[in-house]
Amino acid sequence: MAASPETARSSTVGSSTGGSAGLDSGIEFEIHPSQARVPAAERERALEAPGFGEVFTDHMITLRWSAERGWHDGRLEPYGPFSLDPATTVFHYGQELFEGMKAYRAGSGEVVLFRPRDNAARFNAGCRRMAMPELPEAAFLRAVELLVSTDKDWIPSGEGNSLYLRPFMIATQRGLGVNHPSSEFLFCVIASPAGAYFGATTAVKVWLSEDYTRAAPGGTGAVKCGGNYAAAFAAQQQAAANGCDQVVWLDAASHEWVEEMGGMNLCFVYGSGSSARIVTPALSGTLLPGITRDSLLRLAPTLGIPATEGRISVPEWRDGCASGEITEVFACGTAAVITPVGSVLGASGGWTIGSGAPGPVSMRLRSELIGIQYGQRPDPFGWLHKVA
Ligand SMILES: *Cc1c(COP(=O)(O)O)cnc(C)c1O
Repeated sequence: MAASPETARSSTVGSSTGGSAGLDSGIEFEIHPSQARVPAAERERALEAPGFGEVFTDHMITLRWSAERGWHDGRLEPYGPFSLDPATTVFHYGQELFEGMKAYRAGSGEVVLFRPRDNAARFNAGCRRMAMPELPEAAFLRAVELLVSTDKDWIPSGEGNSLYLRPFMIATQRGLGVNHPSSEFLFCVIASPAGAYFGATTAVKVWLSEDYTRAAPGGTGAVKCGGNYAAAFAAQQQAAANGCDQVVWLDAASHEWVEEMGGMNLCFVYGSGSSARIVTPALSGTLLPGITRDSLLRLAPTLGIPATEGRISVPEWRDGCASGEITEVFACGTAAVITPVGSVLGASGGWTIGSGAPGPVSMRLRSELIGIQYGQRPDPFGWLHKVA
């Protein structure tokens, strides 16, 4: 551990990067550089085929909150395990929230984040639902920028490759009382080099989950909390047992309306060629408001592809594929960007979407969005946030 750490204020590093100027949360991060960084040769080897979420960088960010002190003790420090009392709240009641975002190495060598303020805003919406303290947007951004700029050698180059960032917060109060939220929290950011996910060139087969429900009105479906994922594994196992890659979630009340696929939003392509248009299930309160979903809703119309939010039922999906009205379906999210869906299976049978292979509208939207993220296309919406 460095004997006298430097202190980086959120108004210093980062303010010249075009993003944080004018935002100063007053939250500071002490810099404790790792004395045991992964040697360059070993790092380069890890970056050749990084996979997803298996390898982590040299550092992490930690920041604590308590009812008395508010946010305090921000640090950039060596990546490593936590030591927590077995009676810590998060282990028992799952008070936890996370985000998922990426840093990209653009063609020019610049390191950029994609719409990071939207992740900060969504994180705070999640904090409100989960009765957790909100983190000032400037501190969230500063934490992410500090980790990315410190560990930028871990960002793999090449299209589809990125540094996946995982900000999260856990309840760290000790005790088993359940009548109130935790009075202490730990915010942390870790980073993991990521290769192209799922491959995108093969379409997935999805399982319609009629036994299980991901989210109900009034629940936590609209926020990125770990509990949603914990409750989804059994359905994912059922999908795999039926030869499917992913679960499609339906509405809780009737299991008739399509909501999401696994941890991604869904998008339906109607028509083809110059008459193609996309429809994605509306945010009803039980869907996660994906930033990729929102980006496609805004980007597609600029490419001549009208985009709307709507309601799609399972019979409409099946009949639309049979009539040829629905030509493609894809899922979208930060990790995999766009994953084409090729076929559907449920308890009462299945069907193929289009030819069963990735379709042209899905692949076009994918390459246009990736083109913006990697700085190869203009960025008309100002979505890129330069870090280093
Ligand atoms: C994270 C997530 C998404 C996608 O959100 P992005 O911001 O596009 O990455 C969709 N659905 C669920 C359930 C998620 O957790």
